[in-house]
Amino acid sequence: SGGPGDMPEEIWNKVKNHPCYSEEAHHHYARMHVAVAPACNIQCNYCNRKYDCSNESRPGVVSQKLTPEQAVKKVVAVASEIPQMTVLGIAGPGDALANPKKTFETFRMLQEQAPDIKLCLSTNGLALPEMADEICKYNIDHVTITINMVDPAVGEKIYPWIFWDHKRVTGIEAATILHQQQMKGLEMLTERGVLTKINSVLIPGINDEHLIEVNREVKKRGAFLHNIMPLISEPEHGTVFGLTGQRGPSAQELKAVQDACMGGANLMRHCRQCRADAVGLLGEDRSAEFTLDKIDEME
Ligand code: SF4
Ligand code: SF4
Repeated sequence: SGGPGDMPEEIWNKVKNHPCYSEEAHHHYARMHVAVAPACNIQCNYCNRKYDCSNESRPGVVSQKLTPEQAVKKVVAVASEIPQMTVLGIAGPGDALANPKKTFETFRMLQEQAPDIKLCLSTNGLALPEMADEICKYNIDHVTITINMVDPAVGEKIYPWIFWDHKRVTGIEAATILHQQQMKGLEMLTERGVLTKINSVLIPGINDEHLIEVNREVKKRGAFLHNIMPLISEPEHGTVFGLTGQRGPSAQELKAVQDACMGGANLMRHCRQCRADAVGLLGEDRSAEFTLDKIDEME
């Protein structure tokens, strides 16, 4: 074993070779992200669209955007250079499911050309219910949903608007729709047997105490892991939170919330918030070796 927390044996067996979930595996297996998803369907106050989505990534990083064809070419090139490459994720730079054609076209081609590579995607969850069946058509190892609240009154402070039913929706109505879609999406993935991890961004004074309730609700709906990440809020990135002086949590504040959630869904403590085009073993970033011009030279 050696699995984090009280993870059931059958789930641990599925994830123990996954670099993100096992401290042991992340020395031996590599993962990569491809940035094929530029658009987003919601606005988070901590986001600056010029940079990678914070659903999964460290903000303040600009990834090279790729077409599905370029992405597949890159994955195949990386897999031949780095034999430990086992997992491919789509984590932005916007929302994977706000770009369904690009995301699923990439997965479809990869399944044909590199069937051994496990796939994962991360999303804010707004479009998840309508995509749940499509997700099940591919070799998707797990899905990550970023859930920062289970109470629209908290959500209203985090999300100024969503794009829904062809129009912009704001305020409590926006947060209510997002919340309902996230819960429904998580339940649908659980019913379909897709492993689902939850990311939450800890925003001091906004959702710090509330994350215990988030943890309880997502565990109840079958999430296998909960990853609480610190808000990285820097005014020079032009995020609304940065401009209002909202700070990120200290290491102690982060640990206090993580400790308070122990016994809820299993917590992940070593996520590195990798770039949307990260390549390599965790903690090593070889993305600069695999830019498009370099891949062309390899041929
Ligand atoms: Fe930005 Fe990601 Fe939020 Fe969309 S989901 S607004 S890309 S942080
Ligand atoms: Fe793994 Fe976290 Fe990096 Fe995603 S962002 S590849 S979950 S360590």
